[in-house]
Amino acid sequence: MRRPSLVVGAIVTTLALLAPGVQAAKKLRVVVTIPDLKSLTEAVGGDLVEVDALTRGTQNFHEAEVRPSMMLKLRRADALVENGAELDLWADVAVLGANNPNIVRGAAGRIEISRGIPLLEVPSTRVDRSMGDVHPLGNPHFSLDPGLAPIITQNIVDGLSRLSPDDRPTFERNRRAFLERLGEEMGRWTKLMEPVRGAKVVAYHPDVIYFLTRFGLVQVGTLEDRPGIPPSPQHLVQIIRQMKAEGIKVILVEPWNDFKLAQRVAEEAGAKAYVFASAVGGVKGTDNYIATIEFNVTLLAQALK
Ligand SMILES: [Zn+2]
Repeated sequence: MRRPSLVVGAIVTTLALLAPGVQAAKKLRVVVTIPDLKSLTEAVGGDLVEVDALTRGTQNFHEAEVRPSMMLKLRRADALVENGAELDLWADVAVLGANNPNIVRGAAGRIEISRGIPLLEVPSTRVDRSMGDVHPLGNPHFSLDPGLAPIITQNIVDGLSRLSPDDRPTFERNRRAFLERLGEEMGRWTKLMEPVRGAKVVAYHPDVIYFLTRFGLVQVGTLEDRPGIPPSPQHLVQIIRQMKAEGIKVILVEPWNDFKLAQRVAEEAGAKAYVFASAVGGVKGTDNYIATIEFNVTLLAQALK
């Protein structure tokens, strides 16, 4: 009678030894267009996903260049998480080159996180592409608004669950734990921002409006006259006049934008220019979603004091 149980024991041991390898092989291979989504997909997917981003946080996402390395990453992907609202339209070109049916538009593995997001700055008139406007559907830079993380992570949970239905409870549990932690931080951030509530700032490109609005700050203008077009001298003269008149002390500049120009404008206006993290990994010490928001909150709370 002992022999069979020994055999069973041996099988169990063998399975236990194999288990990590089996699990590793089962991980969903997820590619994301921008690093903010890498951090959020990892928060939801945990050990069940392996996430790779197509861009870095120091880049201008509107103008990401589609390279062969992108297509290589996409070729083996089970899922592609994209921002949408035309921030990362270039993903379509990269997907075409990757020739991977899992992630073509409409496939189960294509996950768009702008679903259900109330977009700001939606143009009230038809946008003519020749004007170079890069926000034709509304402002697409919402991913770093912690108040929208519940919607974004829900879209990720739903998308990953389409590919791995059995893991939905785990994705949901991970999401809840992440949102709980984010909620705690949010309480602290709100307190930190309380003294500067209502303060006005100018941004180079309009990619902080969601974040500013969330914390009760006001973006009174941008250095660009139109999103994505280099500022015209006439517009800068006007912005400088406005900044002086309204006592605006802060210009926020993306890591990829012309900091020297912003500094010159700030000097003229009696203000100061600051590089903020326009994405996860945009500046040093912003390796994940929460650290990035922490950086921006701290920057603004100090700059506006
Ligand atoms: Zn933009």
